[in-house]
Amino acid sequence: MGSILVSGGAGFVGSFLCEALLDRGEHVVCLDNLQTGSLGNILHLVPNERFLFSAQDVELPLSAFNDIEQIYNLACPASPVHYQNDPIRTLRTNVIGAINILELARRTGARVLQASTSEVYGDPEIHPQSEGYRGSVTSFGPRACYDEGKRAAETLFHDYCKMYDVDIRIARIFNTYGPNMAGSDGRVVSNFIMQALSGQPITIYGEGKQTRSFCYVTDLVEGLIRLMNAGPHMRQPCNLGNPTETTIRELAEHVIEATGSSSELQFLPLPQDDPIRRRPDISLAFKNLGWQPTTHLPEGLARTVEYFESHQQQRPRAMTQ
Ligand code: NAD
Ligand code: UDP
Repeated sequence: MGSILVSGGAGFVGSFLCEALLDRGEHVVCLDNLQTGSLGNILHLVPNERFLFSAQDVELPLSAFNDIEQIYNLACPASPVHYQNDPIRTLRTNVIGAINILELARRTGARVLQASTSEVYGDPEIHPQSEGYRGSVTSFGPRACYDEGKRAAETLFHDYCKMYDVDIRIARIFNTYGPNMAGSDGRVVSNFIMQALSGQPITIYGEGKQTRSFCYVTDLVEGLIRLMNAGPHMRQPCNLGNPTETTIRELAEHVIEATGSSSELQFLPLPQDDPIRRRPDISLAFKNLGWQPTTHLPEGLARTVEYFESHQQQRPRAMTQ
């Protein structure tokens, strides 16, 4: 029986994906350079004889791997704080990483799923965003290394499919949260929870009127696995996310309620190019995969708060402080 390779498997989403695949009886190779992931996320999986961790960078050729049936390509920092820290490295990871992953798929005959992102829609002019929307992105600006890197990776996936018949899937993932996010990750949910638990001010960028639609991690992982195992008609990009839209201010209020915190709200400048509204149209996934998220925000936040209470000592990373 061949293995399933998860690049970025020691990260937030990847660690849940590795666990879900092991629970289904699969053999899993977790490949990660630990840039933003951690061994702590996967330590509990190591005793499983069907689990293997490989410390490696996707920017290097993946010639040592054989007998791989499926590949999930998640390797890439997802938090703006981290991906903007070294934008050239972020682009390299997305472009060279995608080529190495696709070459591996081509050599082994593995089906390969790319973790793309709602960021391919940029700061969207239509709402909600469906897969047919071409996006409003800039090739300059602080988010470009990630947005354009992910767009180029989608192009590479499409062209490897066309030229070499590589069996591809592309998931456009919208904001996802849950346990195993690093306390120093810098994304909004982990920042707010860390700040609320330590009684620090909750850092809202702008007036907090911008929206995101937050998906709990186990819902997302179920969608990723269903997409991977869908037929060839699903070689087109597919949105995966929670269609319930929330303002960032409402999120702060939910976190205060979930933690019982007395933290105050602190308003800081909105970062450049921060998308104003974001909500997925998930009708493609619903029709073709029978998938939709089932975890409501208060329930998912309660589980995430529980995790941060028992696991984290790191400090949150506010972008504009
Ligand atoms: P994360 O930062 O927690 O995980 C990314 C993982 O990739 C980390 O373990 C990191 O060490 C690893 N990595 C980074 N560069 C690498 C490289 N060059 N070689 C090998 N490993 C490398 O982020 P996440 O939230 O788990 O996101 C996982 C994937 O899903 C990313 O590709 C991200 O772009 C995509 N995504 C996530 C979200 C979300 O809200 N979580 C939304 C859209 C897309
Ligand atoms: N944000 C915020 N305070 C924080 C971190 C983020 O108000 O401490 C805002 C950020 O400006 C954005 C939203 O929350 O509007 C989501 O940010 P995140 O970095 O989680 O993801 P992305 O912007 O990539 O969707």
